[in-house]
Amino acid sequence: MSQVERMGGFFAENRLHPVINAAGNMTVLGASLANEETVAAAVDILGYFVEMPELQRRASEVISEVCSAEAGCVTACAAAGISIAVAAAITGGDIAQIENLPDTTGLKNQIIIQRGHNCHFSGAIDQMIRLPGADIVEIGAINRATADQLAAALGLHTAAALYVVSHQTAQTGMIGLAEFSRICKASGVPVIVDAAAEYNLKYFLAQGADLVLYSAHKYLCGLTAGIIAGRKDLVRACYLQEQGIGRAMKAGKESVASTIAALERWSQLDHDAIEARNLSRATAARSRLKDIDGVTTWLEADPTGSPVSRVRLRIDASVTGIAAEPLRRLLAHGTPAIYLRKHDTDPCSLLIDPGTVTDQEMKQVTNRITHVLNTPAAIAAAKDIQLPPGENLTHWPGPPPRMTPADGDPNVATASTQERSLK
Ligand SMILES: *Cc1c(COP(=O)(O)O)cnc(C)c1O
Repeated sequence: MSQVERMGGFFAENRLHPVINAAGNMTVLGASLANEETVAAAVDILGYFVEMPELQRRASEVISEVCSAEAGCVTACAAAGISIAVAAAITGGDIAQIENLPDTTGLKNQIIIQRGHNCHFSGAIDQMIRLPGADIVEIGAINRATADQLAAALGLHTAAALYVVSHQTAQTGMIGLAEFSRICKASGVPVIVDAAAEYNLKYFLAQGADLVLYSAHKYLCGLTAGIIAGRKDLVRACYLQEQGIGRAMKAGKESVASTIAALERWSQLDHDAIEARNLSRATAARSRLKDIDGVTTWLEADPTGSPVSRVRLRIDASVTGIAAEPLRRLLAHGTPAIYLRKHDTDPCSLLIDPGTVTDQEMKQVTNRITHVLNTPAAIAAAKDIQLPPGENLTHWPGPPPRMTPADGDPNVATASTQERSLK
């Protein structure tokens, strides 16, 4: 039985609901489609014992190469990376202090963050920072921070500053990373960048960051893991956290091996070809949606500079009879569940991400949107629709409410939707 058939079989055997993910690399939807090479590397090493520090040493070499960093290590995920990097900034390489966290008595334990960066990525950055015992010092307002505020906040108790690069943060009014790093460096304060979902693996260190964090399971298509890259002494202090709080956040051999494979693959990928493929998929989707009354579409560049353009749907609810968020929820309650992207504070629009769907799935997405918006019964039923089942944890372990849209869905699918090839 092929890998692809096994995937479909697993969905059927375990009664899992088929998903079309047009939202991008969301951890809550299973992050990404693991690539064949990254899966093979994990399967291969699972049959062997290995000295983990040696495996992590090799990971450090590969991370250094691909990220232009002095060193690197692999942890459970990027969220873990935030807590571990903060812990490292507090304890350095002192094992006694590492084992004593979250007690930070006598240590610098303040982490500075711009208020507009203190976001929720479906986990609160604030909590990841506080987990190892740090105190947060916010500067500025949610939409504005200045260099003077940063300089004034740096003090005797500052352990590090965290800079978040994400579509979830304020996109204007924040201090740029180069300036942020320069000001921190002048006071000897390390800068940690959360770039979990970013595409460029070199840019943030080049802008002056001391440590940068990436998810191995987002653009990189690896197994679930987090990558920490940067200054050697700080990366070492990160890895040594495995003797402390990092023990609860460690990556197993399969994750480290798959991350090595994912990075090696990444450095050989034809990124222009991927961008072109995504662009043509997005362009085709846009042209299929252009004649719906009340919906305006355009292609929109990624707000943080990743090379992907998404289809923006601006929805005039006075014409369509349904606003953007109820429409998003309705699509996610169908079969297959279709997830669109919606993260910003704009209540009037949604995005379709071309990077996490096949051409065929993209057609299902646009068919379904067209169908729903042309079906008054579906729109009427959507008024009080609840959170998408994939975002609703409150009923667990029972199933969340899953409304079956009474609209004669044109592409009701079975688990066979999942039978797709790995990229
Ligand atoms: C996805 C994301 C995270 C968490 O990444 P995981 O690897 O899933 O823990 C953290 N920060 C930002 C900005 C993210 O987008």
